[in-house]
Amino acid sequence: MNHEGRIERARAALNGSKIDALLVTNLTNVRYLTGFSGSNGQVLITKSGATFFSDGRYAARAADLVHGAEVAIYDARLTDLLPDSLARASIARLGVESTTVTLDEKDQLAKKISAELVPVKGVVEELRRVKEPEEITAMREAVRLADQAFDEVLSILKVGATEREVALELEIIVRRAGAEDVSFEPIVGSGPLSAHIHHSPSDRAIEAGDLVLMDFGALHEGYHSDLTRTVVMGSATDHQKEHYDLVLRSQSAGTEAVAAGATGVAVDAAARAVIESAGKGSEFGHGLGHGVGLDIHEAPRLHKISEDTLQAGEIVTVEPGVYVVGTGGIRIEDCVLVTQDGAEVLSKAPKHELIEIPI
Ligand code: ZN
Ligand code: ZN
Repeated sequence: MNHEGRIERARAALNGSKIDALLVTNLTNVRYLTGFSGSNGQVLITKSGATFFSDGRYAARAADLVHGAEVAIYDARLTDLLPDSLARASIARLGVESTTVTLDEKDQLAKKISAELVPVKGVVEELRRVKEPEEITAMREAVRLADQAFDEVLSILKVGATEREVALELEIIVRRAGAEDVSFEPIVGSGPLSAHIHHSPSDRAIEAGDLVLMDFGALHEGYHSDLTRTVVMGSATDHQKEHYDLVLRSQSAGTEAVAAGATGVAVDAAARAVIESAGKGSEFGHGLGHGVGLDIHEAPRLHKISEDTLQAGEIVTVEPGVYVVGTGGIRIEDCVLVTQDGAEVLSKAPKHELIEIPI
């Protein structure tokens, strides 16, 4: 991955702002800017330089991984070195990431440094929205690994298997396929539990006639994928087919609305209108989708309350669902690349009809 230019772009955000420097403490942002992955690292970006800080455990790793910033290793804590760095660069107002720094950390910083702390948010997250070609390549592989895992998991779906067993198999399949990890703990919901939007797999054994909703992803080079498919154990009822078709049509409408310049509100509305016109609007109780990349959920959002406008090169999920309490839920989710004039659906796992698992 080529990290060159990223710190430069973050620095551009300092120009015209009220801060002289930015302290990046969100580890995903640190990884994006420098290439460093680990449990402790911070980046100070001033108008003329950049310093990566960590502790001794990461000295060798930082020397290997960090690009575009000087590496400084402290004994115990960031404030061992930060005051000097700030003084050398004459920093009077330091931007700190308000979504990461805790109140306690803020107090500690305020005690040790003389610069004024200015809460800022979203600076690096904004840069992360549009993916570079190499990032898109990594995402395509993360998506491909999830597609492959879906294909393989179908053969282990059996009446009597518990949701937890299927979730464990999914993790094994994803990792065996070559992923670094799963993107998140897989969601496997069966029968009435498939109506729980963010269900934790339980000991419920899958029964004939159940809808089985599986939401999972693969991690590749730090990039996440996110895929949901819903299948049925045995022959689908007309009712299940009808619901599936409704969600599929909603998903197509949402995907067709994706393009550079479309707002997150408009894309959400395009998919939601299909479900609302069938009188099921109240059974689609979440946003249509989210950006995905180094985090499983990142900007932009496709949601009623989104403030985002899509840009070419962003990767978002499109994931409408209809959840009927007591009966079951259906969700279909793909990762989609925003292009200048539309969208490229990256996920290739089959979805065009409700898959019936032989029982
Ligand atoms: Zn998902
Ligand atoms: Zn998702």
